[in-house]
Amino acid sequence: MVSELSDQLLPFQLERSGLRGRLVRLGPVVDTILSRHDYPDQVARLVGEFVVLGASLAGGLKFAGSFSLQARGDGPVPLVLTDVTNDGDIRAYAEAKEGAADKDARLDQLMGAGYLAVTVDQSAVGGQTYQGIVELEGESLTDCMLTYFRRSEQVPTGMRVAVTRGEEGWRGGALVIQKLPETDPHAAEDAREDWQRTMLLLATLGEEELADPRLSEEQLLVRLFHEEGVRVFPRHDLAVGCRCSRRRIDKMLATFSAEDLDDMADETTNEIGVTCHWCNKTFTVDRDDFREP
Ligand SMILES: [Zn+2]
Repeated sequence: MVSELSDQLLPFQLERSGLRGRLVRLGPVVDTILSRHDYPDQVARLVGEFVVLGASLAGGLKFAGSFSLQARGDGPVPLVLTDVTNDGDIRAYAEAKEGAADKDARLDQLMGAGYLAVTVDQSAVGGQTYQGIVELEGESLTDCMLTYFRRSEQVPTGMRVAVTRGEEGWRGGALVIQKLPETDPHAAEDAREDWQRTMLLLATLGEEELADPRLSEEQLLVRLFHEEGVRVFPRHDLAVGCRCSRRRIDKMLATFSAEDLDDMADETTNEIGVTCHWCNKTFTVDRDDFREP
């Protein structure tokens, strides 16, 4: 039997350079999210890239709320959205129009022109919300994200992403390394060399390796960075988490007019079916529960 990837986020540090990184590997999580929808393969792969990159860019989940990636474009896939909470609950979905299946599996082909927004939303706990935006450009989500970090955050960033479908389902991985502002200006020359050497090593990481369930996270990191000294920090579990509930659906329906509710109700059963666009679950609600007194 083929083992599955661990659905975990592993933060690490390279001892020689002090650079920090995060490795995310998703098996059942990304497979569940993608299997709930009937996307063409290349759309599923793109959504999978959003999921693994979203989890790896969420800064070690050190916020209180949610971290999201949202892309909107004028192509056959006008929307891709993913978010992850600080508890590690991930959800994602995309809109795909007819014609998406005929496109190449490239970001620019599938989504066209538009933008990508990166948001940390801490409003639910009374905290700040931060958002950065970059134009959708490049052949892949990785290209687009690298442009984002260069322009918006000015944080040197290296990343590799893999999403593949094997016999046991979808799986994916992402490895992100970022160079946070240096604290010691005298070390700038060394730091530049450290960065270049680390990026060369990162570039040797193949997609098969990154999503290979036979390699543990530690094995993968040691194989890649054995001369750099790898120190791993405690892992975070990642899970599929939708936030839909009957209560939320009721609250949403309560905002519609009686006329709209009549239109939405099935003529025979008098029921309203509401499908959660994130997880594709359908809630069936009796129209009469919303009749004005
Ligand atoms: Zn849902």
